[in-house]
Amino acid sequence: MEKPRNIQLRLLSYGVIAYMMLAFAWWSVLLFTKNRDAYQAKRDHMRIVMIAREEIPPTDEAFYNTTAFRQLKHQYEKQEYMILGEASVFVLSLAIGVWLINRGYHKEMMAAQQRRNFLLSITHELKSPIASIRLVLETFQRRELPKDKAEQLTRNALLETERLNKLVNDLLLSAKLESAYQLHPEAVNLAQLMEDIFEQMEAKYPAASFTFNKQTAVEDTMGDVAGLTSVIINLLENAVKYSGDDPDIEARISQHGSTIRMEIADQGIGINEDEKGKIFEKFYRIGNEDTRKTKGTGLGLYIVNEIVRAHKGKIAVLDNEPRGTVFQIDIPVVKARNGT
Ligand code: ADP
Repeated sequence: MEKPRNIQLRLLSYGVIAYMMLAFAWWSVLLFTKNRDAYQAKRDHMRIVMIAREEIPPTDEAFYNTTAFRQLKHQYEKQEYMILGEASVFVLSLAIGVWLINRGYHKEMMAAQQRRNFLLSITHELKSPIASIRLVLETFQRRELPKDKAEQLTRNALLETERLNKLVNDLLLSAKLESAYQLHPEAVNLAQLMEDIFEQMEAKYPAASFTFNKQTAVEDTMGDVAGLTSVIINLLENAVKYSGDDPDIEARISQHGSTIRMEIADQGIGINEDEKGKIFEKFYRIGNEDTRKTKGTGLGLYIVNEIVRAHKGKIAVLDNEPRGTVFQIDIPVVKARNGT
């Protein structure tokens, strides 16, 4: 949300710009008419002098044919074009300046909003698993628990540590991606990798329906296994997270020529057209942190996009039918140099 003081400043600057435009238009019109008046006065004076000196007969035609008149007219027309040209350059520069300032301002506002969102979400994301783990440990300390209850609490605590671990890894990875990320390529079969991750996901989210669809044979390619694993996990976790109570997720993989295409499709809440370009920005989350229900940091898709780009691949966000989202990744096949 924009602060009232910022809105006031914005209105003030729009007012000043509008005033400048109007003033400039007024000065241009004035200059135009003054120039015309000066020309007409000079023309009439010149004509009277010529007739008085008997250089020409007193007819319009004779005067309009003189070189002196033609030169005067030419000069007048040149000045008119100059005024027009200068006015256009000025208005254009002002318009470009206003547009640039506005764009910078919007970017700054977005960045500030994202930083605020990030701080709010990271505080929540760090605090809530720590609080849960602490509660479990305190329960163990205070009383003896039946075996099944103890097991359930331990499972919960482990899930929370896994969440913390993912968060810290995402933070470290995104910091690395900004500065010193290096791929460690090795031969990997993406279809196999996807299938393995799918099995883990099925175990982790028993209520979700997962369908894995290998549409063609897929060659091995040189890729960073840790990075690509993170890409697939992030997309699948998002598909679950943004699908409500009964996630229905389909992953497809195929190879066309020297490109491997991976698609992860959900039947979830979908993504608006105007948000599709923004979700890959660091810390960007749709909506506002104060009202949001889902957990997250806005780092996942940033990491996904950077890793896909590091593999010279492309990622696209499409609408799924009848609803939901499809994340489509195209990765070029890179053959191992020694033929392995
Ligand atoms: P996070 O999930 O931590 O918020 P991401 O970078 O993974 O961050 O995603 C950015 C935003 O994109 C999310 O906040 C969410 O609003 C939107 N999003 C991502 N994946 C999906 C999806 N499969 N369906 C709907 N919205 C999604």
